[in-house]
Amino acid sequence: MAAGLKDKVAGEISSLGFKPRLDVVLVGENPASKVYVKMKNIACEKVGIESVKHSLPDTTTQEELLSLVSKLNADPAVDGVLVQLPLPKQIAESAVIKAIDPAKDVDGFHPVNMGLLLSGQPGLTPSTPTGVIAMLDSINFNYNGAKAVVVGRSNIVGKPLAIMLLQRNCTVTVCHSKTKNLPEETRQADLLIAAAGKPKLITADMVKEDAVVIDVGINRTDSGLCGDVDFDAVKEKASAISPVPGGVGPMTVASLMRNTLEAAKERRK
Ligand code: NAD
Repeated sequence: MAAGLKDKVAGEISSLGFKPRLDVVLVGENPASKVYVKMKNIACEKVGIESVKHSLPDTTTQEELLSLVSKLNADPAVDGVLVQLPLPKQIAESAVIKAIDPAKDVDGFHPVNMGLLLSGQPGLTPSTPTGVIAMLDSINFNYNGAKAVVVGRSNIVGKPLAIMLLQRNCTVTVCHSKTKNLPEETRQADLLIAAAGKPKLITADMVKEDAVVIDVGINRTDSGLCGDVDFDAVKEKASAISPVPGGVGPMTVASLMRNTLEAAKERRK
């Protein structure tokens, strides 16, 4: 699915007459962030987006980062600006997100883009939830009146996904670390989204027969990468389920490519 999405983006780019440009800023040496940036870079190359990486040291101050962001905002050659999160603790992520030009905010985290999403208007939407919706669309999931349970309420996954599902007429419940009886909530779900960052949090007894289960979690354990869902047991109950790795991750990268193309088209028209 992700390859198909990227092929479509590549096809559109080849007929554009220009190459969109995505600038990715990496601060520090977080190993997971380095992997994500590399994957984004490979995807850019594949679809025909020019990708420029800015690597800054761990000791970068907020002012230094904000100054780079404002330089990229002002550069007419730059279509998308992505600052890889998390940032070192001397830098306030919210200040950096707010500083990115909303028209170049291909991560869709800027309050303006979040506000557009919340009010149902077109704008750049966060890549991970957008990738999840693309997965559900591809299986013709019937959103209308479906009971969706989203486990996790972060600004980058849980909250925007809950809004997207609500706009598609799901009845949405958002669960989080203070939810009183998680299994009672998840067992009601026709569509269960796990985005908590807790290895195998969702066990088979927490899943309704024939539910659609999407696992957003990426957890590094001693036995390798795993999601938030106990895949082997839950796949016996679910009517459709996404694996980790190889599920939402590649769809997120593909959605980022789509966002960069859309940002480039919108800004240059
Ligand atoms: P986060 O830490 O910001 O948020 C986690 C959320 O889960 C919080 O709202 C918290 O209240 C909730 N939570 C934690 N423990 C819980 C529990 N026991 N029961 C119910 N809710 C609980 O994380 P995030 O940035 O939203 O990411 C979530 C997971 O998704 C992580 O594993 C992350 O690595 C992964 N992720 C994957 C992709 C991708 O491309 N596949 C993208 C972003 C995040």
